[in-house]
Amino acid sequence: MEMIKDGIIGLCVADALGVPVEFLSRNFLQRNPVVDMRGYGTYNQPPGTWSDDTSMTLCLLDSLTNGLDYADMMRKFALWMNNAEYTAYDEVFDVGVTTGKALSEFAKGTDPLLCGGSGEYDNGNGSLMRILPLIFHLRSFFGDVFAYNDKAFDIIHNVSSLTHAHSRSHVACGIYLSVANRLLESKNINTAFSAGMNDAKRYYRSKNRYYDELAYFDRLYDDDFRYTAKENIKSSGYVVDTLEAAFWCLLTTECYEDCVLKAVNLGEDTDTVAAVTGGLAGLFYGYKAIPEKWLKQIARLDFIINLCEKAERVI
Ligand SMILES: [Mg+2]
Repeated sequence: MEMIKDGIIGLCVADALGVPVEFLSRNFLQRNPVVDMRGYGTYNQPPGTWSDDTSMTLCLLDSLTNGLDYADMMRKFALWMNNAEYTAYDEVFDVGVTTGKALSEFAKGTDPLLCGGSGEYDNGNGSLMRILPLIFHLRSFFGDVFAYNDKAFDIIHNVSSLTHAHSRSHVACGIYLSVANRLLESKNINTAFSAGMNDAKRYYRSKNRYYDELAYFDRLYDDDFRYTAKENIKSSGYVVDTLEAAFWCLLTTECYEDCVLKAVNLGEDTDTVAAVTGGLAGLFYGYKAIPEKWLKQIARLDFIINLCEKAERVI
C-alpha cells in the first residue's frame, strides 16, 4: 500500500512549508508569498521542520500498526507532548489548547473516549489534522466501501473524540475521510470530491445527532463551491474553515506543489491548513509528485518513511 507514504508524506511536507509562516496574515503573504521551503520565522525552526500536525499523525499511524486501540493512541500522543517523541528535532513547539486539555484528562485516568472537549468552542482543527491515517485502517478492515458502514463512522468519531468530541468535529473528520477515500479511486478530483461528499451526506442525514450539524458544511455541498472567491475562503483554525480551505485548494489547482503552496499562502493557520490539504493532495498525486528539493529538507525523513513502510506491511 504505497498510498500510506503518499498521504503521510504529502501531509508532512505541506506542514513543514507552513510552519515558518504560521499566523502571518493573507495580506502579508500576498506580498511575500511562500514559493519554496523556508526556515525559521514563527517558531525559529530550520527548513523542513514539521509540527504537531505531523507528530500526531505519526502517533496515530504507529498506533494503528497494533490495531485499533484508543488508549494506545492516547499514550502515543502523550509521549509526543511530554517526551517529544515523534518530533522533528526533539522539541514540542505547538500544542493545541483542546488537545492539551484532553491529554491532561487522560493523565488523570479518564477513559480515552471521554477525554476530548465537547463544547461548541472545542471545534478547532486539532482532530482533523491528524485523522488521515485512519483511512488505511478503515479500508483494510471494511474495504473501500467503508462509507457504507455505520461502524466505520463510529470509529472515525471515536478517534476524533480522543481530543475533539463535538459533533461538528466528528462530521468534519467523516467528510474528510470520505473524500480521501474517493480520491484514491478516481483520476478526477471533482468527481471524487462529489462522490465523497455524497457518501458522507448519506450517512449524516440518517443520524439525528448529526443532521443539524450538516448545515455548517452547506457551502461544500454547493455545486459551485470550487468557484468561491478567495476572499470568502477563511484559513482559520476553526475546523469548518480548515476543511473548506483544504478542499478549495485541491479543487482549484492541478499539481501537488501548487495545491499546498496555495494553502500556505492563505495565511493564518498555515501549517494545519496546508497539512490537511497536503494529505489529500499526496493521496491523489502520489509521493512521486512531491518536489525532490522539498523532500531532501524534511527532518527525519527516513524515520517517517520507515514508519510508513511498516504500516504498509501490517495495516
Ligand atoms: Mg502545527
